[in-house]
Amino acid sequence: MIESSLIKKSYFSNKNDGTNLNDIVRSVNSSESILLNVAQMEQTHSSHIEQIEAEGIYFSDGIITSKKNVSLVVQTADCMPVLIETDKCIAALHIGWKGLKNNIFDLAIQKLTGENMSVSIGPHAQSCCYEVQKDLAKFFPNEIINRKGKLYLILSNKIIEYCQLNNINFQVSDICTICNNEFWSYRENKTSERQYSLIWI
Ligand SMILES: [Zn+2]
Repeated sequence: MIESSLIKKSYFSNKNDGTNLNDIVRSVNSSESILLNVAQMEQTHSSHIEQIEAEGIYFSDGIITSKKNVSLVVQTADCMPVLIETDKCIAALHIGWKGLKNNIFDLAIQKLTGENMSVSIGPHAQSCCYEVQKDLAKFFPNEIINRKGKLYLILSNKIIEYCQLNNINFQVSDICTICNNEFWSYRENKTSERQYSLIWI
């Protein structure tokens, strides 16, 4: 488990938290019944974002709410969980290379209301391990590292640049889900298990 020091009401799970979302939600803070109203996503690597007001399962890769009685959940196993908070609303995003290519972060920012934005990026496939082929790398001229002829993608680079440019508070986990054994990694062994990242108001 990792608690973001930037966004107090958020949580990134790992293998130690188990695989049952309800158990994880309860263990985060049993006094906060708010957490039990969970909004999840049926994620498809799209750039579709839903504004929501209630618990449920949404066909999207981003959900935004200003409601206090619902916690947003994103599932990942190498893709990047991105949690955003303003003084008016919260958002949870699922960003892999497709989401990066389709600018889902920029689209989410345009939909957010409020001031004092904070962005917290959880554990994901980092450039130590996230090797990509040339045909994919060509989409990301500013996010690729070349090491000994192999190409590695930095998923968080664009968001970091955006936050720095716009004076937005941000935090990026340096944990790599592929080489850190405390995290599920699809790349490592095609697991169907996922990390759960939560944010609530
Ligand atoms: Zn790694």
